[in-house]
Amino acid sequence: MKALLAEARLEPGFECCGLLAGRGGVITTVLSVPNSLASATAFDIAPADLFALFQKMREQGLDHLGIYHSHPDGENAPSRRDIAAAYYPEAAYFILSPRVGAEKPVRAFSIRDGRAEELEIEEVE
Ligand SMILES: [Zn+2]
Repeated sequence: MKALLAEARLEPGFECCGLLAGRGGVITTVLSVPNSLASATAFDIAPADLFALFQKMREQGLDHLGIYHSHPDGENAPSRRDIAAAYYPEAAYFILSPRVGAEKPVRAFSIRDGRAEELEIEEVE
């Protein structure tokens, strides 16, 4: 979680994004990737980058468990666009807020059938 927040704060002008991978439902690996839209209000992962990340996960025997991105300005809750573009119903969608004093800088949601439900994040050290 600290690594995710550090990344979100690194370039607060853009949404950062990437995939989260691990084993047995526990996220162990952050796979960051450039936001192909280089935008502060939207993100997208280029198909070639996405393909490379899935290949990397396969090679390392990791499961794809989540997707993360940041909301530099607004609330870190899923936007309409996030809900519409949620193609992985099994994945946890992490949304980060790089803002200082954000109440809950890391939130996770399950998004399926056009509905978002907040998930509880359990930290395992
Ligand atoms: Zn978003």
